[in-house]
Amino acid sequence: MKKDRRSFIRTGMVGGLSLAGMACSSSAQEETMQGPIVVATWDHGVQSNAVSWPILAGGGSSLDAVEQGVRVVESDPNGTTVGLGGTPDREGKVTLDACIMNHDSQCGAVAFLQDIEHPISVARKVMEETPHVMLAGAGAYQFAREQGFPKRKLLTEKGEADWKEWLKTSQYKPKVNVENHDTISALALDASGQLAGACTTSGMAYKMHGRVGDSPIIGASLFVDGDVGAACATGVGEAIIRVAGSALVVELMRQGLSPEEACAAAVQRIADKHKSVEDLQVGFIALSKNGVVGAASMYPGFTMAVQSATRSDLVNAPSLKG
Ligand code: ASP
Repeated sequence: MKKDRRSFIRTGMVGGLSLAGMACSSSAQEETMQGPIVVATWDHGVQSNAVSWPILAGGGSSLDAVEQGVRVVESDPNGTTVGLGGTPDREGKVTLDACIMNHDSQCGAVAFLQDIEHPISVARKVMEETPHVMLAGAGAYQFAREQGFPKRKLLTEKGEADWKEWLKTSQYKPKVNVENHDTISALALDASGQLAGACTTSGMAYKMHGRVGDSPIIGASLFVDGDVGAACATGVGEAIIRVAGSALVVELMRQGLSPEEACAAAVQRIADKHKSVEDLQVGFIALSKNGVVGAASMYPGFTMAVQSATRSDLVNAPSLKG
């Protein structure tokens, strides 16, 4: 029998984090929050929200809030899963995927982009300055340069040393919550009631050269419907693509599920389609247009950072498996 949402496991407080001044709660609460809200994936969502929040609180747009928030994580050389300092593919190349979407179903994406620090802003330019939704590889790079984005080496000394160490065994085995996948995705609702979302990543560590995950794919890593809500994903991208994960979450919300119920149902769908696959971590977060947030993951360890006028906390997502 399928587990329903009540069967999802709730874990305790978030521990071991330096989150000065932040409360930590043990589950995604289903309260309706008033006013602007921003939510973001994993612990680095706190960093992202810290930049998004003043924009929202000052009456800025949800689109600006999510873009500016995730840019901070893209620029952090110590983050090994996004932008600068991202773990390379098995040929030692850092290749980036990102997408952005607004309340009006406008969207932009870049895939397999190299040598550009802010793929999320290139994705926004694709949305705003081109007739297309996605640019990839050399074309995305050429467009970025034309738009004035500087060339930047993204492989750090540490990233290179770790890659050389990895080459000794060359084993590709995504692990649960271990630094080789931790996309930053953010969703925001602004003071005028408009939703937006952004997602950016260096993808799975030591992926095949040319591999593109869910992160630049609208409907997989991110989906926004201004009439319903928004959702975004992290984890093993292939699994998320197979079920059109974020679009699924939003469609389930349209049918009346709460954000948390919808995230849990999408995780359950992935579990059903990957019965023989172990250690497959995926996580979803969602935000309804009415100001309700929710999250769920396959395994414990996935967190969602929440920021509104009344909340500033890091939530341990309920998980399907122990
Ligand atoms: N979803 C990303 C990918 O498959 C990885 C992650 O979330 O960290 O590329």
